[in-house]
Amino acid sequence: MSLFKKKSSYSYYGGYNSGRGKLRKDRVIVAAIAGVILITAILVVINLTRIKLMFKGYSYGEASEILTLTKEQEKEILSFDKMDHISEWIKESNNVSYYYNYERYLEYKPKMEYADVVIYIDDVFSNKVPKLTSLGYSDDVIWQLLKKASTDDLQYLIDKNFNANTIEDYRKVSGYKIQNTEKYIEAYKEHNDYNYAVNIVNYPFIISTNEVDTEYLIKDPENILALVKKGFFLPNDYEPSDLTTPNVPISPECEDSQVRKDASDALEELVAAAKKENYFLVLNSAYRSYDRQVAVYQEFENKYGGLYAAEYVATPGASEHQTGLGIDLTSQSVLDGTKLVFGDTEEYKWVLKNAHKYGFIVRFDTETADITGIAHEPWHLRYVGKEVAKEIYDNNWTLEEYCLYKSVLPKLSEK
Ligand code: ZN
Repeated sequence: MSLFKKKSSYSYYGGYNSGRGKLRKDRVIVAAIAGVILITAILVVINLTRIKLMFKGYSYGEASEILTLTKEQEKEILSFDKMDHISEWIKESNNVSYYYNYERYLEYKPKMEYADVVIYIDDVFSNKVPKLTSLGYSDDVIWQLLKKASTDDLQYLIDKNFNANTIEDYRKVSGYKIQNTEKYIEAYKEHNDYNYAVNIVNYPFIISTNEVDTEYLIKDPENILALVKKGFFLPNDYEPSDLTTPNVPISPECEDSQVRKDASDALEELVAAAKKENYFLVLNSAYRSYDRQVAVYQEFENKYGGLYAAEYVATPGASEHQTGLGIDLTSQSVLDGTKLVFGDTEEYKWVLKNAHKYGFIVRFDTETADITGIAHEPWHLRYVGKEVAKEIYDNNWTLEEYCLYKSVLPKLSEK
């Protein structure tokens, strides 16, 4: 009744009448919204960790797994970036503080079993890292070492008491092996160069007086600087893809006149430049296939015996002629018979002084036979490009020394 009364008392303001009913409805809605907000807030508080985890990128399922851990562990996981393999780490290990290390290590070794990652990282970070840190290794350096290091490698550094500074310059040389560090230090004393020290220890036979202990296969034979010699072998079936016959005088005895395109252009320049000064160079031999090298070797062996063949003919697979970058020169005077051998000609003297300007080096000299393993071959040139040829010439190096000092080695796999 009172409602009617009120209604009638405000009859002049019909609009208010209906407004009052709306006000009540509004209150109900506000109350409802407040209720929903309150309930949501309660749910958020209860599920805050889950929500934070899901914001980090974890799925509902992963968040559920994380929520089975202790509050402390949840907090720790939240302090890391999102880990793609969180479920595996929860399964494999209770050591939550290492989870992020597992994840990081797995990036280096994507094929490693999760359990093995856990065993390795647990050992490294519990037993090795604290000692390495005290030897001055930063986190950054430790992780760089871990890319390749075994636990034995790390133990070696600890046992030998090698601090971070001691290994720093060797470590930067490609091919650095931790357990060779002592030998590198010895080699450095002799050669005073970090590249040289690391490379000569890793591949002693680069200097030919040292025995070939391991044989390697060159995986990038097209590499114009590939050092090819006993120990560093070309694949048997390797044939350069850009062989071409240079437009230069070719000896009638020459059975193989093709060289790689860059070497061909350079040889044309070289021969033309010599001719301008009245020196007459003739191409005597160029690309030789593996099979052809086998035949040449056998021919020398039959004619002159094994020792002679070993000294003067490269082992098949270890000949620069197979690269398409090695050539043998002769001169018109030798072909005419006015000179007996190329090494006695004026042309040879000119080549010694000028070949580098065109990208060639005289590969085998009398004084360097100990390094190259090949007796004096004044006629044999190797194309390496102008820049490198100049550097080798200016330093009076062999290709071996260039490779050692500049740490330029082909890509290799053990044969
Ligand atoms: Zn040759």
